[in-house]
Amino acid sequence: MTAYKALSREELKQVKEELEQQFAEVRARGLKMDMSRGKPSAEQLELSVGMLDTVNSKSSLLCENGMDARNYGILDGIPEAKKLFADIMETEPENVIVFGNSSLNIMYDTVARSMLHGVMGCTPWCKLDKVKFLCPVPGYDRHFGITEHFGIEMINIPMREDGPDMDMVEDLVNTDASVKGIWCVPKYSNPQGITYSDETVRRFAHLQPAAEDFRIYWDNAYCVHHLYEDKQDQILEILEECKKAGRPDMVYKFSSTSKISFPGAGIAALAASEANLKDVKNTMKMQTIGHDKINQLRHVRFFKDLDGIHAHMKKHAEIIRPKFEAVLSALERELGDLEIGRWIAPRGGYFISFEAMDGCAKAIVAKAKEAGLVMTEAGATYPYGKDPHDSNIRIAPTYPTLEELKEAAEIFVLSVKLVSAEKLLEESI
Ligand code: PMP
Repeated sequence: MTAYKALSREELKQVKEELEQQFAEVRARGLKMDMSRGKPSAEQLELSVGMLDTVNSKSSLLCENGMDARNYGILDGIPEAKKLFADIMETEPENVIVFGNSSLNIMYDTVARSMLHGVMGCTPWCKLDKVKFLCPVPGYDRHFGITEHFGIEMINIPMREDGPDMDMVEDLVNTDASVKGIWCVPKYSNPQGITYSDETVRRFAHLQPAAEDFRIYWDNAYCVHHLYEDKQDQILEILEECKKAGRPDMVYKFSSTSKISFPGAGIAALAASEANLKDVKNTMKMQTIGHDKINQLRHVRFFKDLDGIHAHMKKHAEIIRPKFEAVLSALERELGDLEIGRWIAPRGGYFISFEAMDGCAKAIVAKAKEAGLVMTEAGATYPYGKDPHDSNIRIAPTYPTLEELKEAAEIFVLSVKLVSAEKLLEESI
């Protein structure tokens, strides 16, 4: 296959006509598929249904410390759930608070609390003229949604192969006191599947923020979500690195079992320094008497320990790996030599990120929709939904069946080829 850019105008016109014909045939199949969100498939959810039998009317509902899980009590999580999360999050139980069913909820509350009450005695953000957050891009739309909701100005930070552009991060964090936070998905990032290098993590830990209340929002949503047994990313532990660098309070680390057990019915946690946790609990104790301890108990009884989590994640990987491979092999086979797109083959996480030619992403997503394939809206991976290059598309391969996915990949690559050929023809006038 020849790169499209190397074709003459006449050749390109002919390619376009052939693609249009192929596209009309695919559209005529009247398919209907949704690849817009990173949701586990039903088959993956089946892996966890046994959890529902771990706690029933015959079970003891006493926690390890003798507390009755059916009653009020324990603000920060039952000891066995704190231990399980501590192991998942590579820290100690005393650094962990177990919350309810959603880590995004913890992140929202963390920003809301900083807005209303301030961070550890600092001025509440709502009293400041300007509050800014750094947003590595492409990134997770719901992170950007939280900061947009509070009127926080978001600054794009380009992602590199080993994490965010740290020169830019250091420059902004260390000089601008209105920069109060940065959104990070440090392992198998959403959407690129990038894992931050040791150097990137160390540079984070050695930031010297102009703002005392600057915090790194370290959303380790995909910490145990490997696709391969033999190719697993490891990452330096940020709480420990910050402590070593003399700034133990600089980071909030988030995680949940949403993509381990049940999205929406899992358990979520925050790990942070003692001082941060004390600050969090001051507000938390006004918000709730405690979270759902029965669900915490269910999770611990089902997974038992970190080995149990790893064994379970291996089963997830067996289901989703062929799906990732189906998309990646279609991209490689159909687009490999055409120079109209780039992607990274991830070793974990939930997404494949596709970089189209500038100015093509919206048109590709619209084209795929014409043929019945709903993808994440172009632009969603950027703050305010605005991708300055209109080039990034997030592919979420987990939810459709393998058969559906093969068709979806066919529609996608066809849409990429067609839109790119049209764009190059336009440009060659
Ligand atoms: N963080 C990231 C990076 C995610 O991709 C997701 C889910 N798509 C979440 C958080 C949501 O997690 P939860 O269900 O725990 O709120």
